[in-house]
Amino acid sequence: MKIGVLALQGDFAEHIVMLRSLGVETVEVRLPEHLNGLDGLIIPGGESTTIGKLAAAYNLMEPLQTFGQRHAIWGTCAGAIFLSKDVSRDQPLLSLMDIKVERNAFGRQLDSFEADLDIPELKQATGTEAPYHAIFIRAPIIESVSGGARVLSTVPDGRIVAAQQGHLLATSFHPELTNDTRFHEYFLSLVD
Ligand code: GLN
Repeated sequence: MKIGVLALQGDFAEHIVMLRSLGVETVEVRLPEHLNGLDGLIIPGGESTTIGKLAAAYNLMEPLQTFGQRHAIWGTCAGAIFLSKDVSRDQPLLSLMDIKVERNAFGRQLDSFEADLDIPELKQATGTEAPYHAIFIRAPIIESVSGGARVLSTVPDGRIVAAQQGHLLATSFHPELTNDTRFHEYFLSLVD
C-alpha cells in the first residue's frame, strides 16, 4: 500500500512518521504526477487558505478532485476544510465532501484544547474500547453534513468534529500529533 501526504504546507511530516510506524510506504505530494500509483492521500493540518492557494498554483486542484472520486482521502483540520464544499467565505476548496465547515470555530479561549471522544467506528475497526484523545488547534467545526456524508464524532456539546463520506474522511483534530495510531489505521481500512 502506498499513501501520499499533501506536502505543500502544514504538518505533513508528522503524518509521514505515523504512516511509516504502521509499515506503510509514503510519498510527499507536491505535483500532480506524485499522485500516480497512490492508493490514498492525507491532507494535513496547517492553514487552509495557504494550502488551497498553493494547490491551485501547482495545478493540483483538478488532479486532487479526480483522485478523490476513486481513492481514499483524509483531511485533518485545514485538510478537512479543504475537502469541504462550503466554508462561508471565498477560498479554493476541493468540494469533495458534502460538509459545511466553520473555520476557527472554537473561539479564542478554546483556540486549542484536548478532548476525549467516543468514536464507535474506531472502536469497532480497531477492536479497542479506550476513548480517543483528540487534539484541537484553532480547529474548525463541521457545521452540517448532507448528501452522502455522515457524522463520525461530536464533542460533548454536540458539535461535529469528524465525518465520513464513503472513502473520504474529515477530522477537525490532529491524530498525527498523538501516539495513538488508531485513526490512521481506520483510514487505512478505507483504502482499497
Ligand atoms: N485555522 C486553520 C484554518 O482555518 C486550521 C488549523 C489547523 O489546521 N490546525 O485553515
